[in-house]
Amino acid sequence: MTELLEVEGLTVKFESAAHHLELVRDASFEIGTGEVVAMVGESGSGKSITARAILGLLRRNHRMTVEGNARLAGRELLALAEAEMREVRGRRVSMIFQDPVGALDPVVSIGAQVLEAVRRRRSGTRPEQRRRVIELLASVGITDPELRAKQFPHEVSGGMCQRALIAIALAGSPELLIADEPTTALDVTVQAQVLDLLKRLRDERQMSVLLITHDMGVAAQTADRVLIMYAGSLVEQGPTADIFGHPCHPYTGGLISAVPRVDAPRSRRLVAIPGSVPEAADRPAGCAFHPRCPLADDRCATAMPGPRRLGNQIAACHRAEEARDSQVHRWQAGPGGGGAGRLPEERAAL
Ligand code: SF4
Repeated sequence: MTELLEVEGLTVKFESAAHHLELVRDASFEIGTGEVVAMVGESGSGKSITARAILGLLRRNHRMTVEGNARLAGRELLALAEAEMREVRGRRVSMIFQDPVGALDPVVSIGAQVLEAVRRRRSGTRPEQRRRVIELLASVGITDPELRAKQFPHEVSGGMCQRALIAIALAGSPELLIADEPTTALDVTVQAQVLDLLKRLRDERQMSVLLITHDMGVAAQTADRVLIMYAGSLVEQGPTADIFGHPCHPYTGGLISAVPRVDAPRSRRLVAIPGSVPEAADRPAGCAFHPRCPLADDRCATAMPGPRRLGNQIAACHRAEEARDSQVHRWQAGPGGGGAGRLPEERAAL
């Protein structure tokens, strides 16, 4: 598979009188042509800011600096002038956001909003552009597109609004679609429909998709490969089957253990990862996950682990081999069976 997007050493810094923070630290990954890649992590792990940095959407914030490389089909995006970047956004890369109803203009009809995107990105006569709007609405599974085009966002469901946003994103026929939590605000059945739609569009258009989500279930259902982010760093990445089959980072194992499964035995416990993601200003020394990690040892509190390859996976963990062989059991063992779900000081007291 040829790589469409290659990100290397991406670092986002925030400077103020009080803080010098690294919001994203040295992130490297690729997305192949026609590949769906899920970026997963809890809120505050740096997923959205990574996507915005790649798209040049942080430039107006003069306190932020972006370092590293992000090449789209070999073309360096981070070096482009704003006018060139505007050409890339929409035509070659599009982004859809979390709150579909809020992302649409409430006083403009759905058709007019799609038409605006078509006019910005394509030439053609007015009748051709209007035909294109109807085609786009139909292509994202909106039934009776002529009628829907005349309606306003408050007159249709959240799922319909998300489909309209995807139609807007497709107006320029992008090679890469970045979908930032596209299903979070939707109920489960509509969520499944939107995920199926993304996979269908990928198959039909050979479009690559970067799917940002906090939900490992969504990643399992949709992605070819998974990137796991924690506290501004990519801590694990690999093919979806490998990541779910034998995660090499305890954080990945914790995320998997927290996913409910209808086919799991009744005795299986869901285990929450104790604690929460630290703020960028409060990250601990060493491995940022060590206060929450069931495998943490003395080295983890002082030395930051670098990425290492284990088979098809890359994991940033000093004890990745042990994590791969044991961690799911640790996380699922529960009280009296390894202390999963407890902070290290609580486990020590067991
Ligand atoms: Fe846990 Fe240590 Fe690995 Fe960090 S480096 S995830 S603390 S075992």
